Parts: sequence; C-alpha cells; structure tokens
Amino acid sequence: MLRSLFGISLLIYGLSAYGQAGKPLPAVKIIATGGTIAGEAATSAQAGYTSGQVGVETLIKAVPTLSKVARVSGEQISNVGSQDMSDEIWLKLAKRVNQLAAMRDVDGIAITHGTDTMEETAYFLHLVAKTRKPVVLTGSMRPSTALSADGPLNIYNAVAVAADPQAVGRGVLVSINDQIHSAHDVIKTDTTATDTFMSPYHGLIGATAYGVSQYYRGPFKKHTVQSEFSVDNVNSLPRVDIIYVYEDMPGDVVDAIVKLGAKGIVVAGVGNGNMPKAVMDALGRAAKAGVVVVRASRVALGFVGRNVEVDDNKMSFVAAEELNPPKARVLLRLGLLKTKDPKQIQTMFNTY
Ligand code: GLU
Repeated sequence: MLRSLFGISLLIYGLSAYGQAGKPLPAVKIIATGGTIAGEAATSAQAGYTSGQVGVETLIKAVPTLSKVARVSGEQISNVGSQDMSDEIWLKLAKRVNQLAAMRDVDGIAITHGTDTMEETAYFLHLVAKTRKPVVLTGSMRPSTALSADGPLNIYNAVAVAADPQAVGRGVLVSINDQIHSAHDVIKTDTTATDTFMSPYHGLIGATAYGVSQYYRGPFKKHTVQSEFSVDNVNSLPRVDIIYVYEDMPGDVVDAIVKLGAKGIVVAGVGNGNMPKAVMDALGRAAKAGVVVVRASRVALGFVGRNVEVDDNKMSFVAAEELNPPKARVLLRLGLLKTKDPKQIQTMFNTY
C-alpha cells in the first residue's frame, strides 16, 4: 500500500515536470542575491524590516506553482540588501550567469535582487552576459512576511519569462509588477510603491499576467552577445564617482574626487547635463589630467546630447545620451577597461 502510494506520488511529481504537450518544461535556474524579496519583518504590518534574511530554497517553496512553468533549481550568490551590492558580487554573478547560460540544460536564468540598485545590476549584466537565453531580474517592494507581499507573484512571472522562448534575444530583462522592462531603460521611480519600476522614456518590452506574456519590442541598442565588453578575466572595476550638481556648487568637490583616484566622473547635471562654471572648470582640469568626464542629468527623463549648452568638443567631455547617472557609471566603468579616450567612450555611449 505504502509502496503504491509512493509510486503515485512519484508519477505526479514526474508529470509536473512536463508541459501539456508532454515535452519537458524549460529548466530555469534561480540565482538569489538578497533584497526585500528575501526580507523579514517582525510583524506582517510594519514599515521596518531587514533585507536579505530568507534563502533561495525558502523563496522557491513560497511559490509551489513554479513547478507548472519550469523545472526550477536555486543557488545563492549573496544575501544583501541591494544598497550593499558590490563589484565583488557583480563579477561573481556575471561569471556565474555566463557559466549557467552556456549549459545545454539551462534554458533561462531568473535573478532575485533588491530593488534599490536593480537597474544598475541589470544594465551591467545586459552588457557582459554572453547569451541570448533570457536573463530576468526580479524583486519586491514588500518583505516576504508582509501583508500582500508582492514577491511570490513577481518570482512566478520572472521564472515564466525566463522559461519563455519569446524572451530569447531581448537582452537582460526586469520582470516586476506584471511588466517586463529592458535593463537599458528601467528606472526605480518611487521609494515604496509596488509600481515603482518604469521605462518612461522608451516603454515596456512586454507585460505578464500570471505567467503568460505579451512582447511588444526588443532593446534598440546593442547588448549581451553583440556587446564588446567581457568580465571573463576581470577581477576589479575602475573607480568612477557620480557628482550631483546643485545651485552654486563649488569646483573643489571635483578636485577632491580626482585626488581620491577616480578614473572617471559622471556628472548628474542640472537640466541637459549642465553645471556651474566653477564645476565646469574643475571638470575641464580633470579631463586634461586623463579622467573621463561623462555628462548625464539629475532630471528623471530625457536625453543628454553633445554640444548643446556645454562645448563637449572643446572640453573633451562625453554625453550620456539616454542613460541616467548610475547606468552611465556602469558603462563608463566597462569602457575604461578598454580605453581612456573620450571619443571612443562617446562611441560606446552612442552604441549601448
Ligand atoms: N534596500 C532594499 C534593497 O534594495 C530595498 C529595496 C527592495 O528590495 O525593495 O534590497
């Protein structure tokens, strides 16, 4: 009796690993890095909580229906709030994504991540993951112990997107709150709301309803397998700092950053990447000393083009185009692994 019951449960388990047409379900690896999705609070209705408390196996167990969309297995790379995301974790994550993506029996990769720096990690992977297979980041705004926790459905949808042949070749994606964003475009827009992620300048890649997705477009700039960047033999990334420009800002802030050893500076400028004269003069000195200066904007939306109010040609500056300051920093760091020439780095900003 016991043996036959065991046999039936094995059969049920076996059937659940197959899709409706009898084909094995896609295999999706979940890489957990931490974040609120793995966060815990003392009660289900309080604002205070700690990120990165729950392990990947608990995250998977919280969504039993995952076994209907994919054969999932998990691994833990780190367990940090994404305010503590680091170069060390980035390089480990990117190398592991490339290893897994090269495996025949992995069809897609879902990565759980804190939302604070998700746009930076996603864009970093968009430039260095060498695969057409779906690589999909997700997270949550509410900890796993909260009322109406958003993590379980976000994981379900992210795994469904990672398992979806229609997501192949669309670069690194962020699947969250029923929407699919390109890593290139997505930004966090609200400190606490569950609909914080938006791609307001370029629009969504697609949308998902309980694991069923519609796709509207692909990324419009180069990424992943077309990208010239690789972290294969890279163990550290060059220092690049971001300066936030404000009324009557002094130039000595820039001089201090240069003294501290920055190889690049991203300017979160006012408006179309502008800055007071004192800052412009200090950045000019920095550029002359070989520090690459990229002009982005502190404004949420828009494009920073060359030579509008600032003479980029004369100053040897680079214009960030549609990248916001943290994403411009990601591209500049990868660019500096190859060259210090602002003209070549400008070409990278036009391309990625
Ligand atoms: N600080 C947390 C993090 O980025 C909050 C954001 C989240 O995961 O929602 O890990």
